[in-house]
Amino acid sequence: MSLKSIYLSTILSESKKNASVNPKQTKNFDGKAINQIQAKKLSSDVTRNILFTFDYELYLGADSGTVNNCMIEPTEKIITILEKHGMKGIFFVDSTYLAQLIRVSKDSPAAYRDLTSIKNQLHRLLSAGHEIHPHIHPHWTDAEYDVAQNRWHLNDLKKYRFSSLNDEQKNIVFDEAINALLSLIKDAFPEYKMDAFRAGGWCIQPFSAFEPCFRKAGIFADFSVIGQLQISSQVKSIDFSSVAANAVPYRFSEDECKPSEKGQYIELPISSIPVSKNTRFDNLVEKIMWRMPFGKSMGDGKGVPYSNDLPVNVELQKLETLSIEHLTFNRIPYYKKYLLSNTFMQFISHPKMVSSHHLKMLDKFLNWVSCNYRINSNWRQLL
Ligand SMILES: [Zn+2]
Repeated sequence: MSLKSIYLSTILSESKKNASVNPKQTKNFDGKAINQIQAKKLSSDVTRNILFTFDYELYLGADSGTVNNCMIEPTEKIITILEKHGMKGIFFVDSTYLAQLIRVSKDSPAAYRDLTSIKNQLHRLLSAGHEIHPHIHPHWTDAEYDVAQNRWHLNDLKKYRFSSLNDEQKNIVFDEAINALLSLIKDAFPEYKMDAFRAGGWCIQPFSAFEPCFRKAGIFADFSVIGQLQISSQVKSIDFSSVAANAVPYRFSEDECKPSEKGQYIELPISSIPVSKNTRFDNLVEKIMWRMPFGKSMGDGKGVPYSNDLPVNVELQKLETLSIEHLTFNRIPYYKKYLLSNTFMQFISHPKMVSSHHLKMLDKFLNWVSCNYRINSNWRQLL
């Protein structure tokens, strides 16, 4: 189906919705349009598995930003939209940060307030049926806390990759992270089980570095792989080239990129679209949007300066993850097109990077999706 026809089906779907509340509009349809609506309705009995996953975290570079602007506010806005459409989110909580926050909150009232806000939001998420699981950015262990500003500086990136830690450090970092997250929820949700994981910066390789920790913590589902992604830099080293772009979930045992039918672990790959197919016009629009207030991210910190790495060979330029923070009005047709040929779609989003425009587009996209498909947002049904 061409992009033009995707646009057409959007218009028809939206007209169909409007028709139920505004009978006048139905008179504007010609016979052909009505036939197409009926055809669309007949083919709507199709399930799409759409997972909305999030890295629930501050910025990870020179300036962490604030908890309210990077995490609390944007997360609340996002889940309001997901809940409107009956969808659940999966939140990977930066638990290495939590361990640090718990430590400084004993002496800093501002840090204690942040911790309380996060705890309350995690409880609100769990109460509404969303999931929370650990996410680890090991370089938090070298972060400096600025008491006066209540912000963090993460300039030391030596421990960016979990695999860069020695065995003793791995155990300490992983255990502290899991315990920090558990300590915030165990009293209110004693039965809740955290059994999924996403590695910070997708650095899950080699899986042998994580495997003993997964076993110990009872984690069996990983959400770190982006099929075809390759990054080689001073900070990251990723090679997911043996996994097809937009692969569906699969089992594995020792290597997260090698499917194995009887593997005890499951990989739920993050979906992407090829950037090269986007037009120059799209990219120009994106640049202009970033300058507008409605196009600015809600977060207020600074990320890891990947561009300063030596030497950089980032193949990511050819792929773009499906993310709420990428969902501008000119991207919507590509997301719709993706769903025409794929039954599994995993978004990876960062609340800190989402703007008011992205939220509007998410609502618009989910309106279209719910008009055309039956949606499953529960990954456990895929096992
Ligand atoms: Zn992260």
